[in-house]
Amino acid sequence: VHILAVSTYELGHQPHHLALATAALTARGHTVQPIDLAVDQWRTTLLVDVDAIVVAVPMHTAMRLALDVVGSIRRERPQIPVAMFGLYAIEDMAPDGVARFAGEFLEPLTEWADAIARDTHPVDLAAAVRTASPRTLIPLRDTLPGLDNYARLSHEGDERTAGYVEASTGCRHRCRHCPVPVIYDGRVSIADPDTVLADITQQVEAGAAHITFGDPDFLNAPVHSRRVVAAMHDRHPDVTFDATVKVEHILDRPQIWAEFAAANCLFVVSAFEILNDDILARLDKGHSAADIARAVDLLRDHGIEIRPSWLPFTPWTSIVDIVDVFRFIASNDLIPNTDPVQLAIRLLIPKGSLLAGSDDASDWLGDFDADRLSYTWVSSDAAVDDLQRRLHVLAESHNHDDPVATFQRMWNEVAARADIDPESITIPAGAALARPRLMENWFC
Ligand code: SF4
Repeated sequence: VHILAVSTYELGHQPHHLALATAALTARGHTVQPIDLAVDQWRTTLLVDVDAIVVAVPMHTAMRLALDVVGSIRRERPQIPVAMFGLYAIEDMAPDGVARFAGEFLEPLTEWADAIARDTHPVDLAAAVRTASPRTLIPLRDTLPGLDNYARLSHEGDERTAGYVEASTGCRHRCRHCPVPVIYDGRVSIADPDTVLADITQQVEAGAAHITFGDPDFLNAPVHSRRVVAAMHDRHPDVTFDATVKVEHILDRPQIWAEFAAANCLFVVSAFEILNDDILARLDKGHSAADIARAVDLLRDHGIEIRPSWLPFTPWTSIVDIVDVFRFIASNDLIPNTDPVQLAIRLLIPKGSLLAGSDDASDWLGDFDADRLSYTWVSSDAAVDDLQRRLHVLAESHNHDDPVATFQRMWNEVAARADIDPESITIPAGAALARPRLMENWFC
């Protein structure tokens, strides 16, 4: 059948989910037309001569955008079969009548398309697959927009084309605010190392000089990850890389960092969230504030920078917690490493979230907001909610400014609300452009 494969947003990189679905559906003999709406415009003429549509929803923002696309499809072609696939393709999030394949989606998605080709009604319209045998399918990227359309690496004043691969999916952990355990429940699937290397190689040949390992956590399967990094460095010795690793794994495998630094690891993305140990325990993060400081030092000892992601605003956050986050960032020389939008992030609680099932949820959890795709909640201190809204406005309106200047603006606001002297922390000028980063703010 002729399938339109749609991606709405994948954090600024060439959409991996779309490339995988395109490869799987093409291998089964379907004709696939991929479109990435982060680069191209949606238009209803795309629906002409199409037999089925698949839409990637690997993350929150992608799902919100995808719902608009599905609404447009339904108005134009109400009868056409539509499937959503990826982490957010779950019950109560996808619209009625749309097939949904979460987790390891390749097999059920292709079976769904095969059933349409056979002109039989697909039997399974929903699947949440937690494990799969090692993936040997190489993502098909030739028909996607070129890598130059996507986020580049910025480092020491230079820009380099970046690629993106995944060596594993799922996660061994069950952080209570995270959408991954909702589907994977502590399971991890890996991609065959030669397959990952082939994907890296095709992107290097397309111009990539830097690779992002987008695994939920690159050290969930450390032996596998080390093998992949070693193979990449052997084959492409000038290529640099970044990966996402939780604080706990940074610290419990200290011997890895010399090896990764020697293989050109430039930075690690790590979810610090907040410095309040009680809140970290509520989220089941597996680390403390003291661990965060040790992780920064350990990686710096090896010349690797951390780009932290933060979750400052939760139902339990006080103004003092926000002050602590700003102070920590300034005193650990992390201002250039921190995208300002991170400092205004408010906890999202999607359907199925482990947090929504907490014993005391009735004390703080509100109704589900179908527009935001999150349960609502309010802080017990209205001043904290008000500060979050103000910081969000500042981060958004100064998104393209020097991050150090934006941090200063945000800190001035925090200090005023906390009634403390803004000069009580030192904010050095410059440096932001020297530190390695991808030129797209991380946003979930
Ligand atoms: S936050 Fe990271 S470590 Fe925790 S469950 Fe999610 S992916 Fe795993």
